[in-house]
Amino acid sequence: SRLKASIKRNLLTILTISAVILSIIVGISMRVSHSSYSPRVVMYVNFIGDLFLRMIRAITLPLIISSVIAAIAPLDISLSKKIGTHAIIYIISTTVIAVIIGIILVLTIKPGGKGIENDNVEERERQGNTIVDTMLDLLRNLFPPNIVQATLQTYQTVLTPPDNNTDNVYEWDISSKYVDGTNMLGIISVSIIFAITLSTIRSKVTNLVSVLLEFMQAMMKIVQVIIWITPVAVFFLILAKFLEMDDIVDVFSKLGLYVVTVASGIFIQGFIFLPALYFGFTRKNPFKFLGQIGPAILTAIGTSSSLATLPVSMQCVEENAGIDPRVVRFMLPLGATINMNGTALYEAVAAIFIAQLKQMDLSIGNVVAIVLTATAASIGTAGVPQAGLVTLIMVLDTIGIPAEDVSLIIAIDWIVGRLRTTLNVMGDAYGAAIIEATSRSELEKLPLHNAKVESES
Ligand code: ASP
Repeated sequence: SRLKASIKRNLLTILTISAVILSIIVGISMRVSHSSYSPRVVMYVNFIGDLFLRMIRAITLPLIISSVIAAIAPLDISLSKKIGTHAIIYIISTTVIAVIIGIILVLTIKPGGKGIENDNVEERERQGNTIVDTMLDLLRNLFPPNIVQATLQTYQTVLTPPDNNTDNVYEWDISSKYVDGTNMLGIISVSIIFAITLSTIRSKVTNLVSVLLEFMQAMMKIVQVIIWITPVAVFFLILAKFLEMDDIVDVFSKLGLYVVTVASGIFIQGFIFLPALYFGFTRKNPFKFLGQIGPAILTAIGTSSSLATLPVSMQCVEENAGIDPRVVRFMLPLGATINMNGTALYEAVAAIFIAQLKQMDLSIGNVVAIVLTATAASIGTAGVPQAGLVTLIMVLDTIGIPAEDVSLIIAIDWIVGRLRTTLNVMGDAYGAAIIEATSRSELEKLPLHNAKVESES
């Protein structure tokens, strides 16, 4: 019956792996019997996968918005501004570092083939924008003048050669316009401002906050249901790829290298960088701490969900590691919703990997945009299995890759999902320990009875 229980717990993964294997078998035999298939056949085979991707896209925006609001609005920011500030600094800086580690790895390992080839700045300017243009666009996008439009379009500066077609880019016309693609940064920044406002006037807006929390619950439920379609969708998506691809062995070795890239990044962040940071702030043995949070790490691998792991990580960090309950009960629930080092690292690697597969040229501006949107997307990712795949679409959007292209990596997302969730959970645990160390003086001033507050679960 223990076997039965474990099968039940891992049913989705078992089904997904079976679907991958089955589609490989069917795909190979179809290719053996028929060397090529028409685009129409490929389109028909792809149909079910296409429906799945449409569902994922539909849920992306409400999920991101409600996940950010649900994480921040219920917090009692007035309880301790210092602890809150430290938590935010920790979350944002470690997330950005995770993204940068991911980008460095994917650009050096080049799992998808050719990397950035064209980094000649003059050539870039000729083609379009300078780095300054891109940075200004990113800042403008942080402040969307129209929230509804921001769900559909992003602001962009565009250079066009005038009639005399001069080569001198400084004479080119410069204009700004909206292009298709969700303004991810703008959506997240507006959601964060709204959520912080709610939390500061919490007592006056209790109904609104509970409505939003319930909305979030409903969105997460929908994601969980959609995710159960993954095995079927994966079967057809891989099969369709099999029918249209020229060099199958090549694609599989590239996917393998992609998993290795994500795994190395997660290893560097989770087992080298965060432990070093922990040691720097607490002067305690980081590997002893790793042992103390061991059950949480295993649960993360098993469930592929930060939220499902939350009770275990609270137990580990509070009881095994002896971190102040006031910090644990603030940091871990917040972290499980918005602190996702693994997801951020993965989204950057995945976006650049797909660009490499498509032999797309990425500019420095694109890379900067990936750093910011992967950070924002990870904040907006809910702590449920495969949620990162949903928000990845937004990162792809910002560099002009269509949502359909996530089908390239969907087959192995069950492995990658577990890896990134593990780092997500480790980041929260290390964060609680580090914030306890940095806010010790503050904690002494706080009333101790907070420690007695029962955790919600
Ligand atoms: N499953 C991850 C988590 O719960 C989120 C993700 O899919 O990236 O932390």
